[in-house]
Amino acid sequence: MHHRTPSITILGSGTFFTTSTVSASSFVVDTAQARILVDAGPGTLVKLAKAGIQWSTLDHIFITHFHADHTADLFSLFMDYRLTDLFEPGKLKKFPIIHGPPGMDDFMLRMSKLLEMETYEGWGKIEVREYVEDNNALDLGDLVITAYPVSHEIFGVQARAYALRIKIGDTLVAISGDTVDCPGVRDACRNTDLFLCDASFPKGMVNKAHMNTHDIGNIATECSTKEVLLYHLYPQYTDVDLVSEVREKYDGPVRKVRDLEVIQLKQ
Ligand SMILES: [Zn+2]
Ligand SMILES: [Zn+2]
Repeated sequence: MHHRTPSITILGSGTFFTTSTVSASSFVVDTAQARILVDAGPGTLVKLAKAGIQWSTLDHIFITHFHADHTADLFSLFMDYRLTDLFEPGKLKKFPIIHGPPGMDDFMLRMSKLLEMETYEGWGKIEVREYVEDNNALDLGDLVITAYPVSHEIFGVQARAYALRIKIGDTLVAISGDTVDCPGVRDACRNTDLFLCDASFPKGMVNKAHMNTHDIGNIATECSTKEVLLYHLYPQYTDVDLVSEVREKYDGPVRKVRDLEVIQLKQ
């Protein structure tokens, strides 16, 4: 059994545009009883190593949606397990469960075929579970995670995208995933202590893929969240004061997160 205080480690605060300091969206949520990876964009494996978190200690992996900036390292992470199990049988004491949108199992299967590494079908040590509409609260002992479908359309395709609401003791955290302002993200965010949100765009930018800063401020105010943390940051808007723009609609604390920062949560 682990003896960790609850925390969130930001592995990646960005999106596709990797720099020496910013990689794509990925988080580790730690509680006393569980270690969870949320999303696995490019850079996740490097950032796990830099954070001193061994991939073999993960209990669960949650994928918000299939876009590559959230999944590009997932199959590589799978291969770490698959090959360790092959090279050093019995060394791995546990295998994570991958939770994801409907189609998650097919994603892994098709990825294995596309990559010409047919290592997935029939192995079965890493279980895959798909989010179920209306009954998807997952109780993991000292935390409960609920996935809410959200709206995230890009290049004419609606992604099967989810926001996550995570209850750790008395602390409520929402992770928006990629989404516009929609009922699902508001349900995930309602009365949270911390709202980690997709802050892709400055105010005034409206599309079917992402929130802008005023959307975030409105959601945070109307859903009574206590603190807002911005992630999924594009380098194109580094010079825009996104934080001040959120504050035009929201009175609480707001800031951007940085890769490798650790956010301590109340016990
Ligand atoms: Zn996306
Ligand atoms: Zn994204």
